[in-house]
Amino acid sequence: MFVITYEKAKRRSFACCRARWSFSIVKICILASGSAGNSAFVATDRTRVLVDAGLSRREVGKRLAAIGEDLASLTAILVTHEHADHTIGLPAIAKAEKHPVPVYLSHGTLKYIDWGEAVPVVEPFQAGCGFAVGDFDVTSFTIPHDAADPVGLMLSAQGVKIAFVTDLGYVTDSLRFHLRGADMVVLESNHDLEMLRVGPYPWSVKQRVMSRRGHLSNEVAARFIRDDLDSRVSTLVLGHISEHNNHPAMVHRLASKALNGRELFTRLVIAEPGVQSEVFCY
Ligand SMILES: [Zn+2]
Ligand SMILES: [Zn+2]
Repeated sequence: MFVITYEKAKRRSFACCRARWSFSIVKICILASGSAGNSAFVATDRTRVLVDAGLSRREVGKRLAAIGEDLASLTAILVTHEHADHTIGLPAIAKAEKHPVPVYLSHGTLKYIDWGEAVPVVEPFQAGCGFAVGDFDVTSFTIPHDAADPVGLMLSAQGVKIAFVTDLGYVTDSLRFHLRGADMVVLESNHDLEMLRVGPYPWSVKQRVMSRRGHLSNEVAARFIRDDLDSRVSTLVLGHISEHNNHPAMVHRLASKALNGRELFTRLVIAEPGVQSEVFCY
């Protein structure tokens, strides 16, 4: 067990941020990570954003409440791509009760969102471009994945840089470039290649996951850590871990070995599928 349980997350996050929030510039909580849903909360004291909304409105509300936050205070929602595990709760969360929450997403992604009854406030951006959301300067960069116009995101506020890069088939030069200088990186370590090969998925799905527009394996994530992880990264969260084709212990073992080889002081956190993380304060 490498990440704390939901109940423990509640207690620990309060303890962490009661003590430190007033002195912190940015706080981050991974509300969920994995094919059953992805969403993260990133906040300064004035700007509160969700990165992806792959949980129901109710579940996001519950998990925000666990860290002393609420849906009504959200400034914006940033979306990496249209896949359901990143957007299932988006229309309901964006609609909100009193006023809509602006949704920032790439032009290509926007075309593929089914808003249903919701009338969202959208702020489309060109993938690869930067924009501002309250206190955050956001940089988007294209990543290789089988979605319309997927992006990785770097959020910066007062010198603190937090990167989100999940759902990508391989590590690009652009990714190496954009992750330089990050303080915290949330990176995918999706599957163990051998478990995927012998696992339950149909061959077509296995091919998709393994393809250059699929997901990163543990081996590729470990290679990135060994060869490319910036020494400035103080917290590395590995997530989007497959429940069928991977195990958190395997992710931890490979990534620890890669980190130890570098002699970095980076803290490694494994985001177990569906489990809310502690709150990270900077
Ligand atoms: Zn995903
Ligand atoms: Zn995806």
